[in-house]
Amino acid sequence: MTGCSTVATSAKVDGAEVSHEATPPAIVIKQVNVVTMTEANSVLRNANVVIDGTTITAINGPIPAGAKVIDGQGKWLMPGLIDMHVHNLVEGSVGNNYPTKGASIYFDNQDVMLLYVATGVTTAFELSGRVEHFGQRNQIVKGEVIGPRIALAALIDGRNSNRTASTPEQGRQAVRTAKGDGYEFIKVYSRLNQDTYHAIIDEAQKQDLKVVGHLPGAFKGETEQAFVPHFGLVAHAEEFSKQTDDYSAASAQHFAEMTKANGTWVIPNLSNLERITAQAKSLDAVRDLPSLPYVHPLMQDKWLTANQYHEGTSPKRVAYFESLVDFHVKLVKAFKAAGVPMLAGTDAGTSGIVWGYALHDELALLVDAGLTTEEALAAATRDAAKWLEIEDKIGTVEEGKFADLILLNSNPLDDITNTQDIAGVFFNGRWVDRATIDSMLAELAKKNAANIGKDAFLWSKIGER
Ligand SMILES: [Zn+2]
Repeated sequence: MTGCSTVATSAKVDGAEVSHEATPPAIVIKQVNVVTMTEANSVLRNANVVIDGTTITAINGPIPAGAKVIDGQGKWLMPGLIDMHVHNLVEGSVGNNYPTKGASIYFDNQDVMLLYVATGVTTAFELSGRVEHFGQRNQIVKGEVIGPRIALAALIDGRNSNRTASTPEQGRQAVRTAKGDGYEFIKVYSRLNQDTYHAIIDEAQKQDLKVVGHLPGAFKGETEQAFVPHFGLVAHAEEFSKQTDDYSAASAQHFAEMTKANGTWVIPNLSNLERITAQAKSLDAVRDLPSLPYVHPLMQDKWLTANQYHEGTSPKRVAYFESLVDFHVKLVKAFKAAGVPMLAGTDAGTSGIVWGYALHDELALLVDAGLTTEEALAAATRDAAKWLEIEDKIGTVEEGKFADLILLNSNPLDDITNTQDIAGVFFNGRWVDRATIDSMLAELAKKNAANIGKDAFLWSKIGER
């Protein structure tokens, strides 16, 4: 460990708000409005919610003596958010998206996870898992780092990947290896050939691993061949737009019917293309991000000096991205009409897509595209938990569930942007209030600012082009 800030930031959380004593007192949030996000979507007015340890132990039940009181009057309690598509920086490596010239770069896991804490993202689905992510997750589980629950998918691609498979037998073996390595999910990627893709999905079913992923380019023109049993979740709406040149509503409907018939769910990921388009137009889309100061300085530099969406940009490319943005809205409308379940995900970690913050952009875009606020919230809570098969543990505010919660100053059902109006968050029962979040963010911004421009944080010195 070389980072002093892990200690500093943890000490702040520990000292100010969180106790490491064996039996910390229970917490009661008094007189709070609860957006339960149960199927019935019941909203409880002026309820008392008791959190003991990691769990919601009572709603309007007895309040344990000595419980710490949080005043919930006029506030709204909802389940913590789930981002179903992230790529996390992690202590130990830069990662597949960021090939480097062999340099080892230090990422402080608490700094990385703070962005989720600040935005109420209490669960994240890592779609390009590496061994370092297990260490990161273990730090969170042990309470050394405050951060979300993390589900890990192993990515298998046809070439240039940590897990490469170009024959069905290699595909099956890659799945078995991922299972042995401890991954819970398989991600299929763009350059798999058809037979290998099918073998991977079949083997994943045998190994009881759900499958998420891309629609490989090999299926273009015969997309229905990719929709086989056990292909569970499409990682972006973009996967559909890459399968066709027809961006009509009828084309969207065709894809929606195919997806529905196979029982596959979809992460629209509207924010991804919206961000990509904005960056293709101007790097101001990065410079103006209010959350940019919290992004690791090496990534800030990469996004501004080696931005793959902006380099070589042209009006033609911008127009193409704009046509995708438009088609993805059509897809969301078609999925909704066809009854295809949609989940919220961001591709956080891609240029200009900031961990945690991007999920709030995604929610707003889903509502703009025609989802109700309740549907958008379900996509980032109850339904996401369902796909991950942890709906008995998280995703709603109910007795017996883990206390992964956001306390808001205003009602997110009235206006989806109210999810950003955070008074405090509970991560696995640990309460972090607004003042603590703000001071941790300020400290991180200061540290990042001090490092910007130093050689060790310049992409031109570190990254491969
Ligand atoms: Zn991704």
